[in-house]
Amino acid sequence: MQTIKAAVCREFGKPLVIEEIQLDAPGLGQVEVTLDAVAICHSDISYAEGGWGGHLPAVYGHEAAGRITATGPGVTGFAEGDTVVVTLIRACGTCPNCASGKPTICENPADGVQDPIKTADGGPLLQAMACGAFAEKVVVDHSQIVRIPEAMPRDAACLLSCGVITGVGAAVNAAQLRAGQDVVVIGAGGVGLNAIQGARIAGARRIVAVDMTEEKLEIAKSFGATDGVLATDPKPWRAAYKALGGRGADVVMITVGAIPAYNDAPRYLGWGGKAIMIGMPHSGTKAEYDPMGMSFQGQGLIGSKMGDTVIQRDIPWMIDLYEQGRLKLDELISGRWSLEQINEAIADTKTGSAKRNVILFDR
Ligand SMILES: [Zn+2]
Ligand SMILES: [Zn+2]
Repeated sequence: MQTIKAAVCREFGKPLVIEEIQLDAPGLGQVEVTLDAVAICHSDISYAEGGWGGHLPAVYGHEAAGRITATGPGVTGFAEGDTVVVTLIRACGTCPNCASGKPTICENPADGVQDPIKTADGGPLLQAMACGAFAEKVVVDHSQIVRIPEAMPRDAACLLSCGVITGVGAAVNAAQLRAGQDVVVIGAGGVGLNAIQGARIAGARRIVAVDMTEEKLEIAKSFGATDGVLATDPKPWRAAYKALGGRGADVVMITVGAIPAYNDAPRYLGWGGKAIMIGMPHSGTKAEYDPMGMSFQGQGLIGSKMGDTVIQRDIPWMIDLYEQGRLKLDELISGRWSLEQINEAIADTKTGSAKRNVILFDR
């Protein structure tokens, strides 16, 4: 047991509170990672606003990078001193989904695991998303970490934990994009830009970005979008058809949690196209679609969680592409902040103009 500093959510919709918390030593199969960087994701904000429920008090934060500073019994393949990224993908390794290569939808991700954190006075404290990374250290299962090169900048590395694998993985793993296919990406935020660069890496012919401002469409083009369409257009799918030479897209990736984006997504599809559901709306909301039209045109609607990523397989190749200059990470960072500035960093992320804001732990 040790005392560390963390940003704690005590009340939904209120600023996070920087306070001291207690962290257990790593247990069976667990590692302690001392963090260098953690990025702020829209999922953290949805939780902190109460959009997805959950217990309070809680520590959010799930896109982190740092160094292993302790290992529990039964950890193989990792050692103290290893530099790693920490993801929220905790997988048992033996359920039917894990066994078929789909750890992001593991059926027993939290089997028997007790939260390793408590408040300063020993009260319950939720380790949200199996990470609780808005804190100086985390204790996580070894299935959640991937080794990274010592020299890799941690602010770039931490982005691999969620936004990058979610977007790139959606294009490569969920959509199974083939070279030459046409793609529409709705939303050019943290995940959307990665869906765009995933489509570029997979060899898409045209990549049409759809977002609310010209500024975001310009950023999208710097990540590989060939065309940009303003979502403020009353029928933006018409402009997308035009960009695709008069046909609908083979793949539409919905990277925002806005219901209008979900309702409109099938309109961008060509015959045989598929829409990939990535951005998560608040619980309880409903979208509408036309089952007759979609079945008649042989279209599909597919959910993708965390880019269907197998972290030990996918994060290493993404690091290699980053080192070759083919996967942009540094360009995704819009600001660097201290833990004490986390509420300002969250406010900046909520303005919608930001790519990723990263908290750096100086020591
Ligand atoms: Zn995330
Ligand atoms: Zn499993």
